[in-house]
Amino acid sequence: MITVVGGGLVGLATALRLADRGHDVTLQDPSPASGATHHAGGMLAPVAEVVYRQEPLFPLMLRSAELYPGLLRVVEKHTDLPTGYRTEGTLVVAADRADATHLAELSEYQASHAMTAERLPLRQARSLEPALSPQLAGAVHIPGDHQVNPRLFAAALLDALSTLGVRIIRERADALPEGHVILANGLGASALHAGLKLRPVYGDILRLGVPAHLQPLLTRVVRGFVEDRPVYLIPRTDDTIAVGATSREDDRPVPRTGAVHDLLRDATRLVPGIEECDFLEATTGARPGTPDDLPYLGRVNENLIVSTGYFRHGILLTALAADVAVHLVEGTDPGIDLAACNPHRHKE
Ligand SMILES: Cc1cc2nc3c(=O)[nH]c(=O)nc-3n(C[C@H](O)[C@H](O)[C@H](O)COP(=O)(O)OP(=O)(O)OC[C@H]3O[C@@H](n4cnc5c(N)ncnc54)[C@H](O)[C@@H]3O)c2cc1C
Repeated sequence: MITVVGGGLVGLATALRLADRGHDVTLQDPSPASGATHHAGGMLAPVAEVVYRQEPLFPLMLRSAELYPGLLRVVEKHTDLPTGYRTEGTLVVAADRADATHLAELSEYQASHAMTAERLPLRQARSLEPALSPQLAGAVHIPGDHQVNPRLFAAALLDALSTLGVRIIRERADALPEGHVILANGLGASALHAGLKLRPVYGDILRLGVPAHLQPLLTRVVRGFVEDRPVYLIPRTDDTIAVGATSREDDRPVPRTGAVHDLLRDATRLVPGIEECDFLEATTGARPGTPDDLPYLGRVNENLIVSTGYFRHGILLTALAADVAVHLVEGTDPGIDLAACNPHRHKE
């Protein structure tokens, strides 16, 4: 029997992959999908989300994007619920000339790592997304960056687990359970295993409703730089748009007024129609960060596999996390170098 501690997207997908392969799985979480997963944008963006000098992350992100369709096929075997998966791609735009320079440099960096990011004339970008402001200074199309809706995806995974007969213990684990354990409880993992240096990196994110006369305001993810500030707009299948996200380490786990203001101002600069949307929600989630922004993923002893610290990319990295866990449980080769993810690399 294997106990997966933590029912965020990582734990849910890990439990699903294992149960689908016939393993006897229990999932333990007092409130599944209530952590970072509940707040996440859901972009599967291995290209748009490249961060300078984070090269060890790139192969993990690209591999996870490749694994996503397979994970979704397993989900679809066991539930009819939607995941909000959309493959229209991503546009990255620049608000002014300095932002356009930044965008051009980023595209060159992406190209130097064999990633596909096509510079587009603005007219072409606006023919793809007519709601974009006519005043933008640059645009790049990234066809391979997709999205899921994390709340829908988590609900679908829970339904699939129930179909598969996975036991769900809705209690907090105060110590490691007996037997084989996969520790996938996000920020909570450091309380259950020594040496994991996790910290909360808060992100504010908004949900807007697109009024009927503007639908669909957008059809693909639009990311942008506005006076060097990043912002993104994610159109969902339910005619809402997520606008995110801030990044702050100030231990204030509620939406900041200034953050809501900044996100709306910057989103409106890229897509003026945002001003006419309904304001539905502002929430704040805590990303599970590590000192080097790389996950903790690997086997640490005969009984324990650690799978946490997915920071900004945990929705994308869910497919990889679940796949690696299956290989580690079954003693097969995950087919990817995990040396940079050693869970004990920050242990003193
Ligand atoms: C605003 C925002 C936007 C984001 N956008 C994106 C995005 O677009 N793309 C992307 O890839 N990533 C994104 N992320 C990051 C992503 O949300 C996280 O990396 C990911 O959700 C981590 O998933 P997880 O399952 O590891 O952890 P979580 O979702 O945090 O889940 C941890 C679970 O463990 C449970 N738990 C904790 N302690 C215990 C315990 N002791 N016993 C039992 N259960 C326990 C909790 O109840 C929770 O359900 C975003 C994050 C934020 C905050």
